[in-house]
Amino acid sequence: MATLDSLKQVLRQKAKTTVSSTKQPLSDTQYSAGFDILLQGVGWTTYQDFIIPQLSQLLAPLFNSRPHISALEIGPGPKSLLGYLPGRLRRQVRKYTVFEPNGLLATGLEEWLCSPSETESPLPCLESPPNIYRSPFVLQDNIESATATSTGTRDNDEKYDIVLFCHSMYGMKPKHKFIERALEMLVERPQGGIVVVFHRDGTLHLDGLVCHRTASFPTGVVSVADNDEELDCFASFIAGFTMQDIDVDNPTRVDWRKVCRTLGRREEAYPDHLLFSAPNFMMAFTQHATALPELLAQVPLGKGDKTVKNREARLHRPASIVRPTEVRHVQQCVRWALKHEVGLTVVGGGHSGHCLWPNVVSVDMGAFDQVHILTAGVDGGNSGPQSGSLVVVESGCKTGEIIRKTMAAGLTVPLGARPSVGAGLWLQGGIGHLARLHGLACDAIVGAVVVSVDSSQVLCIGTVPSKHRPAGAVRPGNETDLLWAMKGAGTNFGIVISVTFKAYAAPTYSIRNWIVPPSDNLEARLRLSDFDNVASKLPRNASADAYLYWDNDKLHLGVTMFESSTSRLTLEMPTPTPTGTILGPEDNFKVVDSVGLFDTEMYMSGMHGGHGGGKTSSFKRCLFLKCIGAVNVADILVAAIETRPSPLCYLHLLQGGGAIGDVAADATAFGCRDWDFACVVTGIWPRDQDGTETARAAVQWVYNVAGELLPLSSGAYGADLGPDPRDVVLASKAFGPNRQRLARLKSSLDPRNVLAYACPLPKAPMEQKLIILVTGESGAGKDYCADVWVSTFSTCTYKSKSLTARAISISDTTKREYAAATGANLNRLLRDRAYKEQHRAALTAFFQSQVRQRPRLLEEHFLDVVSEAVDVDVLLITGMRDVAPVATLSHLVPDSRLLEVHVQASEQTRRIRRGCHGSNSNTNDNKDSSNRGSSLTALDYRPSLTFGNETTGKVTADRFAEQYLIPFVHEDLQRLANMVHQVPNFPRPGVDFRHVLGIAQQPGGLALCTSLLQTHFTGDWAKVGAVASCEVGGIVYASALALLVDVPLVLIREAGKLPLPTVSVIKPPSHISSLASTSSKERRIEMERDVVPRGASVVVVDDVLSTGETLCAVLQLLEKASIGVEDVNIMVVAEFPVHRGRELLRQRGFGRVNIQSLLVLGGA
Ligand SMILES: Cc1cc2nc3c(=O)[nH]c(=O)nc-3n(C[C@H](O)[C@H](O)[C@H](O)COP(=O)(O)OP(=O)(O)OC[C@H]3O[C@@H](n4cnc5c(N)ncnc54)[C@H](O)[C@@H]3O)c2cc1C
Repeated sequence: MATLDSLKQVLRQKAKTTVSSTKQPLSDTQYSAGFDILLQGVGWTTYQDFIIPQLSQLLAPLFNSRPHISALEIGPGPKSLLGYLPGRLRRQVRKYTVFEPNGLLATGLEEWLCSPSETESPLPCLESPPNIYRSPFVLQDNIESATATSTGTRDNDEKYDIVLFCHSMYGMKPKHKFIERALEMLVERPQGGIVVVFHRDGTLHLDGLVCHRTASFPTGVVSVADNDEELDCFASFIAGFTMQDIDVDNPTRVDWRKVCRTLGRREEAYPDHLLFSAPNFMMAFTQHATALPELLAQVPLGKGDKTVKNREARLHRPASIVRPTEVRHVQQCVRWALKHEVGLTVVGGGHSGHCLWPNVVSVDMGAFDQVHILTAGVDGGNSGPQSGSLVVVESGCKTGEIIRKTMAAGLTVPLGARPSVGAGLWLQGGIGHLARLHGLACDAIVGAVVVSVDSSQVLCIGTVPSKHRPAGAVRPGNETDLLWAMKGAGTNFGIVISVTFKAYAAPTYSIRNWIVPPSDNLEARLRLSDFDNVASKLPRNASADAYLYWDNDKLHLGVTMFESSTSRLTLEMPTPTPTGTILGPEDNFKVVDSVGLFDTEMYMSGMHGGHGGGKTSSFKRCLFLKCIGAVNVADILVAAIETRPSPLCYLHLLQGGGAIGDVAADATAFGCRDWDFACVVTGIWPRDQDGTETARAAVQWVYNVAGELLPLSSGAYGADLGPDPRDVVLASKAFGPNRQRLARLKSSLDPRNVLAYACPLPKAPMEQKLIILVTGESGAGKDYCADVWVSTFSTCTYKSKSLTARAISISDTTKREYAAATGANLNRLLRDRAYKEQHRAALTAFFQSQVRQRPRLLEEHFLDVVSEAVDVDVLLITGMRDVAPVATLSHLVPDSRLLEVHVQASEQTRRIRRGCHGSNSNTNDNKDSSNRGSSLTALDYRPSLTFGNETTGKVTADRFAEQYLIPFVHEDLQRLANMVHQVPNFPRPGVDFRHVLGIAQQPGGLALCTSLLQTHFTGDWAKVGAVASCEVGGIVYASALALLVDVPLVLIREAGKLPLPTVSVIKPPSHISSLASTSSKERRIEMERDVVPRGASVVVVDDVLSTGETLCAVLQLLEKASIGVEDVNIMVVAEFPVHRGRELLRQRGFGRVNIQSLLVLGGA
């Protein structure tokens, strides 16, 4: 699929070669029609999945920092980008100016802004009419001269919080000057503003301007209908002109149509359309964008990108490459980045695609190139805990140099297979031919010197021989954590100056190669299976790698066996090997030393006539696999190689096991330890096609194969992963069980995300995840609401970081299991409605038979969905149709807050939404019927919240979220939670008591708690007749609340303490009193009769909801006093879901009572 940019080149070239007529700029109508094509159909995905969410997240902190926003948009087309932001943000925009030179588009925009739809205008709170300039944005201040549509007044020095270049800065040259001009137009206070650029097709080089943040969307696509009329309009829009002479114009059009049809891709999902690749890039600049000279005055400039091996990286144009020669230079880089709130990349061996990043400063560590060998006992008598030899390696060293120097001393370090690979390898894992014997490269790290990206201090961690500790280096408080992180995720936590490795005796290797062309796919699978079997029996000093590749029109399986020995091996020694028993005699046999080993790799010499030495570029992603011979894995491997987009692509399977698995998964950050083979999916293309469609296809093939293997894998290798959004899903399988710990460390060790472009780590989630079950009948709009609320949450910040929210349908789990069991196509089941319909009956039967076999299926599915969303702060689950899900499920996620929002709409609305107008339509939700039972007509329990979704559009859903959902992520709740101290071994040994009543004993605690009780109440205080509470804990909070909301307080006390007449019931002991004393008994509680007026609504307040016994007794008492459950709401300060109190209340007939808790606490 060609990019729009390459299409443009070809169209222009074609016009040049076929005609001599003068070009003519596009008319407003022609431009506007072309512009529309970009946004239609699949083109809209770029807006929906990239531009709008990125913009919302980027701007959220700015919007949170000030009440009102002024914005300037440049070239937005017929709709303002800001107009797509969530309502909470749009309502803050008070001043809006726009430059849109196309008259038609400007008129469209004006209409969109000024004639509000039936629900709400896109920018509803503007203080004056929008200033719409029908002219281009130019370098000199043209605001005065340009004619605005509106009559709004302005001064020359107009300043904005946001300047937004909406679409690729068309026609603006030189682009950096326009950005500089926009920077001058930013407000300076309260924290300056932001310039945002969205750019299609490749990255912009902006001559030394430094980005605050960037994001890419490489998978953007534009579709155009494959008919002459639309192609004519599209082609001239992309080329940027038409022909003046009509006779010349016609043949050009014909040629252009041909070009479009040749370069565009056709896909089954988009019949009658041509698709073009339109990668998108976002760049955000602040007033610090011009701060580069300050850094260059302190730190030497690098030698350009020559030291960078990776061709993808070289296509990125960094703001600058600096090359520190002293540790203080590295510190200066960090200080500069922190001061100006920008990120940095680091260049080690230069093999990753992200060591250079567009408009970001790169720190090339190449000058730190020393290897120091300390044989056992040396180091001035100050060697660390390791008794053996140590090697101190500076972070600009390459594998080859380390191996060569250590070998000269009779030593080695377990590293990788290529001599030119650098620090990225040993800081993120390091798989080599000694891994089965000695472990990964990162396992051999015993110490490091690191420049902190939080404080810029030089940190010394673990064992660092004294003479290699830089002057002034300090040992950090979190040294253990940092050393742990260095072993597998080290590129994310600081700029590493050097590491100390423990060394091993240098071995000699015997190498045997086999190349077998299997006769067909079946034989290939069998061979892989035999190979897997034999390899698993090899001793630790041996490892076997396999290659799958296509050569001379045939699939090939290549196998290399490496055997290491510290006693001398000679060429006379070939002995029959287990591998030989299945593959026959080897094709060749060699004995080499550690340096000679580099030349023996099959991809360097054996495959494809040794393309490794040729002029090729490559792209790799690596997954960890067990059982490569299993049919489902082998099938994917063989099919992958068949579908390779260019001849030299291959799969490399490196053997694991042995010492790699000896280390516990959580003992080092690396985490993924349980695998037999690391499968490196390698896309290769001719170097002279870097950046072309061929290169893009190879990269996409790598991601496709990795995506297919991922569900069957036991992890992904983090070493290759970077800021490409396609890496996020792979990164979610890297680091095994360590992701949460790494997330927390990232937020404490790199709080300002200086190393923003390293392997993506999850963001540290909020202290408490919020899980919202969005329920309701078919057609009520559950999925729609869930999506709206995802975007509302995504623009919230928590502790100055934006929240992540995701909506998931629980019925997808059934579809996944069904697809795995039956071979149905999962992707189509999830996305293709017609395909899903074909499988509906079988899917339902499958679900029912599953429920029969697994009565706890609901719980299993719920936990699956929650565990898949481990990094998400707010998870919205749709497709759940079970009664009282909060009562029945909350104990399974005791550390999360579980809410149910029931979405309601009238029968008529639901019928219209389902698209059926007859009276007998089936009310089962299409989306969910595979999973759940009959639809709920009347609820016999009370959901946490109910949302009436009658109106079209997202305004009411947005407002609902702001009023009722957003308060659950307010930091005040966390402040309150922090006031609950944990008291170990109270009231008896082994119990960790949470002192909820202790909140009242802390400064401001009672006031905070009371005000939260007041604001979190979902009812109307004006309609509440009494606040009731049972002594003693609850009364503390109830009386303060009663005072605040000015409602009478009703006391419930132990029997005998209130004047007659009273009503009373028996109350079993509370959870904590039964723990405190074995003799605690039932007692009676009572309240004065008639103290609550008949029909009044009552709010019951308690400090804690655990087993629910106390609240049950209170509700029974209120019932006895003729107060119906419909009139009662319960508010508790803290709930302990493990005790299943809500379920008890439901079982005792109080399911319809509304229960709200401020805090949800894990533990007992
Ligand atoms: C041809 C080739 C062969 C490979 N062979 C193997 C192999 O045998 N075994 C194996 O395990 N992997 C192998 N890999 C994967 C390799 O380990 C990763 O690509 C690794 O990230 C490359 O590290 P680098 O230093 O060469 O690259 P770079 O691009 O320079 O760095 C990679 C990452 O490390 C960061 N980084 C580099 N230096 C520092 C530092 N001093 N402080 C903090 N961060 C730093 C960079 O910012 C970047 O994020 C291979 C890759 C290629 C391309």
